[in-house]
Amino acid sequence: MKEVPFYSYERMYETEKSYVSVVMEEVLSRSDFILREDLSKFEREIAVYVGASFSAGVANGTDAIWLALIAAGVRAGDEVILPSHTYIATADAVRFLNATPVLVDCENDHSISIAAIEEALTKKTSAVIAVNLNGRACRLDKIREIAEKNSLIFIEDNAQGLGAKLGGKSAGTFGQASTLSFFPAKILGCYGDGGAVITDNHLIYNKVLELRNHGRNQDGEVVSWGFNSRLDNLQAAILGAKLAYLPESIRIRRKLAGLYLSGLSDVHEIVLPEGPSETSDHFDSFQNFEIEASRRDDLQAHLKKNGIGTLRPWNGKAVHQFDLPGMKVMDMANTERIFKKILLLPMNQYLFRSEVERIINVIRDFYGYKASYPEVAI
Ligand SMILES: *Cc1c(COP(=O)(O)O)cnc(C)c1O
Repeated sequence: MKEVPFYSYERMYETEKSYVSVVMEEVLSRSDFILREDLSKFEREIAVYVGASFSAGVANGTDAIWLALIAAGVRAGDEVILPSHTYIATADAVRFLNATPVLVDCENDHSISIAAIEEALTKKTSAVIAVNLNGRACRLDKIREIAEKNSLIFIEDNAQGLGAKLGGKSAGTFGQASTLSFFPAKILGCYGDGGAVITDNHLIYNKVLELRNHGRNQDGEVVSWGFNSRLDNLQAAILGAKLAYLPESIRIRRKLAGLYLSGLSDVHEIVLPEGPSETSDHFDSFQNFEIEASRRDDLQAHLKKNGIGTLRPWNGKAVHQFDLPGMKVMDMANTERIFKKILLLPMNQYLFRSEVERIINVIRDFYGYKASYPEVAI
């Protein structure tokens, strides 16, 4: 039995080695390490890809959120609304500004609830962060309306949303700024840490450039307090090379998602995400494939026994379920319900079709359904 790990970094490098190793060698021999041309070039290209005017590379996706919030004007003591179904990073970024994370419930598609945002508004609310989870845009049009009506800052945590669209418009272009993570397992992953802030607003852009480089302006003059949070040039060069393959990665992910859908839609014990339809308002890039499964823990053990790796999102806990001080928690009925059931199945551009077929068969077997595919040796 061949194992199917949840994500294989080995396979990522094997697949990309032929060009990534050339890029690395080339950049290293030029000694281009910090704030060099490969970074500027990648920043221009990723901004064009997302469909925004500017992008500033930063050290990671968490810093991107934190710096975007500062640059957009969130201050200590403010309340910032965000979904509880997100990585702890989204809340960290708010907390380390001495602002209060206000955690709200999710919709049935697992993204932030529009009604819950409206219920959480107070006089102290200064911003809302929408998280485009699992490669699917939130109802970003509605969130923008709420933000405009209430004069709120609107930031998109787009760490998982690169390539997703709503109504033909890219995730990451609805808020005043959006953020990306280039963590290795993200849809566009580098070989270390990396992130970016994407925006049309030149004030936010310039402020992030300043903050990421010790408060220095383009002439090197220190004009404000700052930090060191630069995207290093070597990672930027690798990302620039990988960006050419991003549309193909998304195409593969959507194909594999379609395969899961067709192989599992008659299994009543699980709830699947919306499929990769061409007619839906949503164009999803399937950063993850998140299902709701009855007897989730037993299913996960059964898959493991068959050599198939899965993950419970965020190690099994939504942000409000961590024992941490200083957050405000709103009604969590839907989040509480889904966190007993959600599971991430393997989903990435390095998987083989035959592997997904075997995963489907193993899940069908667990719930007592007939296999969909003949056994093949993989
Ligand atoms: C990965 C991720 C982040 C953080 O990115 P890092 O680069 O690991 O700091 C933030 N938010 C979400 C939703 C993520 O998935």
